[in-house]
Amino acid sequence: MNFNLNFNDIAENYLFAEVADRVAKYTKTHPDKKIIKLGIGDVTLPLVPSVIKALHEGVEDMSKSQTFKGYGPYEGYDFLRENILAYYNKMGVNLALDEIFVSDGAKSDLGNILDIFSKDNVVLVPDPVYPVYVDTNIMAGRKIIFANATEKNGFLPMPDYKVHADIIYICSPNNPTGACYNKTQLKEWVDYANKNNAVILYDAAYECFVSDGSLARSIFQIEGAETCAIEFCSFSKMAGFTGTRCGYTVVPKKLVKDGFSANKTWLRRQATKFNGVPYIVQKGASAVFTEEGMKEIKQNLAYYMENAKTIAECMDELGIWYTGGKNSPYIWLKCPKGMGSWQFFDYLLENAQVVGTPGAGFGKNGEGYFRLTAFGSKEATKEAVERIKKLLK
Ligand code: PLP
Repeated sequence: MNFNLNFNDIAENYLFAEVADRVAKYTKTHPDKKIIKLGIGDVTLPLVPSVIKALHEGVEDMSKSQTFKGYGPYEGYDFLRENILAYYNKMGVNLALDEIFVSDGAKSDLGNILDIFSKDNVVLVPDPVYPVYVDTNIMAGRKIIFANATEKNGFLPMPDYKVHADIIYICSPNNPTGACYNKTQLKEWVDYANKNNAVILYDAAYECFVSDGSLARSIFQIEGAETCAIEFCSFSKMAGFTGTRCGYTVVPKKLVKDGFSANKTWLRRQATKFNGVPYIVQKGASAVFTEEGMKEIKQNLAYYMENAKTIAECMDELGIWYTGGKNSPYIWLKCPKGMGSWQFFDYLLENAQVVGTPGAGFGKNGEGYFRLTAFGSKEATKEAVERIKKLLK
């Protein structure tokens, strides 16, 4: 027996462990200080009433032989997929039901999709980035090249025709930078992918935070994307499902190469390795799309976006350069006074007792930057902002 030695090449992710360690040390020596955590990338508001009601109904269904459900369809129940289809329709995107695959979250499918692609593909990943894209490809032994996201390009790298890539990751609105591509920029990526016979793996986990109507919420709002893109979505941030687990992946039928269909292959892969998302969870997710459910989740999203605004306004007032905060729950700021990411982390912890996430943890271009998130409580966010203003003014 031999292990997959590619695992040796994955960098140990010390980021959140190191953050926790530094906070614990500080708390030990300063037990009287109240720490505010704005580093959290997880939601904090509970599931909305419509979802809870639907989850209860799902449980009830499982208690009676007439409504009991055993193994469900690999690709998800139609009642949920039809709602997703209608959601896309409202964005002006026409999908077929069999292009939608219900998943247990975007992270799983972002990793699992790689099963359908050959090992010798060259992978293009932005830097800084959500670490899953890099690590899943290292596990599979693929060659990774990076697209530099920097202050100069607003942390939105554009295609370079001198560089050939087969698999391209785009996350918009982005984690960690909060930056969001406009439709013209996305069209450039779509054109590049179609010309290069490449595929775009489009992570739309934060699409629900896009409020600017001129921006895309789905890559399929861009002409030509159906022949070159796969989209990953999630109920995690949209409806607080980080612990409940549900998402969906759109694999268009027009994504075909040499007669090989991505859609058919993905279904085949799922049928072999996946037995579906729990019926009860799909019932809950389905309620997100009811009139009442949508109204309720929009209130939660507005709560987070108000926090994002509070943080962004603070940066404006202090004259600190940042991306995000407008169509994203993340604010990615340039550390003041030329400080490094970890230096600023310590400075903020020691002098304002505010915790964020050092940008250096997301890639080399993250050095000198810092991520704050809008997922805290309104009161804590306001207090954190006051402390930051007092410290940095
Ligand atoms: N994609 C991005 C960019 C994320 O930031 C996250 C979670 O933080 C995910 C995907 C994972 O989403 P899910 O909870 O649906 O697995």
